[in-house]
Amino acid sequence: MSEVARFVFTNANLLDGDGPARPGSTVTVAGDRIVSVHAAPAEPDPGDRMLDLGGRTLMPGMVSCHFHATYHQLGAKPAPFGLEEPPALQAVRAVRNLEGVLRAGFTSAVSAGAPFAIDPAMRRAIAEGAVAGPRFVPGSRDVSTTGHVNDSAPWYWELGARGALRICDGPDEFRRGVRAEIREGARIIKMFVTGGHGTVGPPERTEMSRAEMSAAIEAAHERGAMVRGHIANREAIAMALDCGIDVIDHGDGMDDECIARIVEARTAVAPSMFFPYRLWQSLGGGGLGFTESLKADLDAALAWLPRANEAGMRLVVGDDYGAVGFPHGIYGEELAFYVNVVGIPPLDVLRWATRHGAELMGRGDELGTVAPGKLADLLVVDGDPSVDIEVLADPARLVAVMKGGRFETGPWSGAD
Ligand SMILES: [Zn+2]
Repeated sequence: MSEVARFVFTNANLLDGDGPARPGSTVTVAGDRIVSVHAAPAEPDPGDRMLDLGGRTLMPGMVSCHFHATYHQLGAKPAPFGLEEPPALQAVRAVRNLEGVLRAGFTSAVSAGAPFAIDPAMRRAIAEGAVAGPRFVPGSRDVSTTGHVNDSAPWYWELGARGALRICDGPDEFRRGVRAEIREGARIIKMFVTGGHGTVGPPERTEMSRAEMSAAIEAAHERGAMVRGHIANREAIAMALDCGIDVIDHGDGMDDECIARIVEARTAVAPSMFFPYRLWQSLGGGGLGFTESLKADLDAALAWLPRANEAGMRLVVGDDYGAVGFPHGIYGEELAFYVNVVGIPPLDVLRWATRHGAELMGRGDELGTVAPGKLADLLVVDGDPSVDIEVLADPARLVAVMKGGRFETGPWSGAD
């Protein structure tokens, strides 16, 4: 059959990635696109596959915007730390994690850094159909200066293969380093701008000069790549905004002036506060200096995140899965954390995970919401996440995942 396959979802509780739930909706998919969204049952065409959702939720595929495909028990032992392990081993782990994140309902993922140019190879493998995975924005090695937080930890000293890091000093080296990462296929550059937020370095230490950061961002933008930065103090946030950074990771030290500037610039922010929360919990709270700084970061985030959300900041989900004690696969629990612990309304967290993620990717016109003309990246969920966000933390309630009009999981996979 050469005709374009059409699926008609009827009796859907539609969460479109932006507004409140619309029960009784009908959504039609033809080929890789959504072609219509109706508030009532629509007349089927001959040959349409009718899928009665019986009131289950239909929502956009989610976007994980801070994703480390290769991370596996990172930091579990002092040496080797993990990022410098054999590239083939790390690539196998990346295959597993990319397939897993897709099956968990994330039809897109944006890297927050990976060693050995493994990410660009994963993107090709997914595009070739060799492995299953999300739409993937591949990341670079961690780019920063000599002696920056990861470079100064003992396990990185004098590493022969600089698989994990790209050390640059001075604007010219930053420009060259960024161009080299892009040559190897990175589409988003990860820079370690400060210590803090789960690293061993102090948050107040900014690891690069304004001239270095500016050169790096200019070099990336010239070649169509984005730049994201691990940033944990307010001066560095301001400098990054001056230089035109695309994504701020963590954002500890955020104040109202930063919030206003970020909202104005439409810069994306990945707070990634679920990992520090889990780490603090697993350490039993209090005692060591490290746990006290974690608690301080958490308390600060509990204060600034709701204000930033209210102000309309482009907040996104994604975190350091694969770090020790924080396995890949628990992605849905992160959304529940932002609702139940931080106090963000469920509909807003759903928007972070869908529309905002697509906008971060620069693809807000074709991903992130359920609307005619958009790519058919859709989830069928048993329950209503806008009422009970916990349903997204239960894999048994994710009935089906569709990417580009094809079912990747669920009872209708294999249908075309
Ligand atoms: Zn990270």
